[in-house]
Amino acid sequence: MTAPVSVPPVADTARRDIPAFVRDGERMMWIGGRQVAAVSGRTLPNTDPATEEALASVPRGEAADVDAAVHAARAAFTDPAWAEMSPDRRGRILNQIADVIEEHADELATIDSVNMGAPRMLTAHMLAEASEIFRYYAGWPTKLSGVSVPAGKDRMAYTRKEPLGVVGIIWGWNGPMGQLPSKLAPALAAGNTVVLKPAETASLSTLRLAELLAGTDLPAGVVNVVTGLGAEAGQALVAHPGVAKIAFTGSTATGKLVQRQATDTLKRVTLELGGKSPSVVFADADLDVAVRGVAAGFLGNAGQACVAASRVFVEESIREEFVERLLKTMEAFAPGDPLTQGTLVGPLSTKAQFDRVSSYLDIAREEGANVVTGGGRFGDHGYFFAPTLLDDVRPDMRVVREEIFGPVGVITTFTDIDDAIAQANDTDYGLAASVWTTNLTTAHRMAAAIEAGTVWINTWAEMSTGNLPFGGYKQSGLGREGGLEGLDTYTQVKTVRIAL
Ligand code: NDP
Repeated sequence: MTAPVSVPPVADTARRDIPAFVRDGERMMWIGGRQVAAVSGRTLPNTDPATEEALASVPRGEAADVDAAVHAARAAFTDPAWAEMSPDRRGRILNQIADVIEEHADELATIDSVNMGAPRMLTAHMLAEASEIFRYYAGWPTKLSGVSVPAGKDRMAYTRKEPLGVVGIIWGWNGPMGQLPSKLAPALAAGNTVVLKPAETASLSTLRLAELLAGTDLPAGVVNVVTGLGAEAGQALVAHPGVAKIAFTGSTATGKLVQRQATDTLKRVTLELGGKSPSVVFADADLDVAVRGVAAGFLGNAGQACVAASRVFVEESIREEFVERLLKTMEAFAPGDPLTQGTLVGPLSTKAQFDRVSSYLDIAREEGANVVTGGGRFGDHGYFFAPTLLDDVRPDMRVVREEIFGPVGVITTFTDIDDAIAQANDTDYGLAASVWTTNLTTAHRMAAAIEAGTVWINTWAEMSTGNLPFGGYKQSGLGREGGLEGLDTYTQVKTVRIAL
């Protein structure tokens, strides 16, 4: 099978039916309830990755802007309008946020699809999850309770769960509205205020969301947004002494840097980082289901997913049949216009990302891997990359060990369950895994043995709507998002002892 060469059916940006918010002009940041440009007046461009044409620009915020945002957030944190708000009312405001997200889900999903290239089907799904996550956390302000502890006669002791203060939230371009809610919702539910720093190439949906939040009962300054570069605005937020916690989603390399930088002020840090997740297919699996899940695992969002199942392990006895079926299924994942109904894979998000994925294909060839299908550009404009499968790979190859973050899977075989476990765990990462089998014993043994924060059995990438913890083992992260575990990372515990 060779790389498809047809041109994706993408109209130029001017002719596409896209929200005015993304089209052109300059959007503004939000600090203290007001829309502001960067102090420097500088801006950053945005590009439509499907057409390579310019979109609206965003302010290039730097340390001075971050400082203003942190001060606004700090003032809002101690303002009685937020600090003394009743838990019921805080819960109602979180439900209001869920309502505005639901009402504007189409627009926000389209903004993300145009800004970073994820298919509309996927961004719509992320927005549906987003409102559910806010609804889930809307129930928590009234339930955040400490405990009363026996302290002996004439004494009383109890604990209180209190907010941390100002939380800095930094996250990736590969799912702006997918990653933000599981940080923002618990941060607000616990009574914190926030400064958001979205990814420089995909900030538009966050700026629009901030505009929508201004129409809710959220007091001014509780949510602030500073756009800008990671090395400028991001770093300034991480270093700022007025910030109590950083919640970060991004690459493992940047996550380590963030943790090191946060040490000076001893901030709390939670990290959702990269992965090189395995899909393990046993001979007894329902192959119709497995083949689709495996393909979606490494091709969904053009492989730009932290949970991308980019290492495929197939039981030796079914290798030939499985690869044949997989190649056929991959044809349905041919890239197309992210805004077209039914498109499963859009372009890569930026030119830098396109060049990075292309360079991994050079590395694969140099290392001796075989390109079974795909392997390069798809079409003649836009950052589209052909769905790619590599075999003849060895465990020490860079394409097997490193996160490529593109529509590239590597496939190899295993002999038995112990071999499958050993190969699946042979990675520095540990974010997720999927296992395809109809044998209950195999399923549970694999679930227990795999070193990953999430194990999916006979399904893939089903994310929670707030009630399940998500996070990484090994170098895939620190802490958990979702559920009570996620909420607790936005609180601190105070002990109170009283002499009666
Ligand atoms: P990066 O680590 O490059 O960037 C993530 C965010 O950090 C961006 O907002 C970025 O800003 C900012 N940043 C960059 N440098 C610094 C710095 N020195 N200090 C503070 N902030 C900084 O990751 P990508 O954007 O490339 O995202 C892809 C990665 O995210 C992949 O590794 C993927 O696996 C991971 N990911 C993890 C998820 C999870 O939940 N575990 C979910 C989704 C993705 P800027 O935009 O300017 O670069």
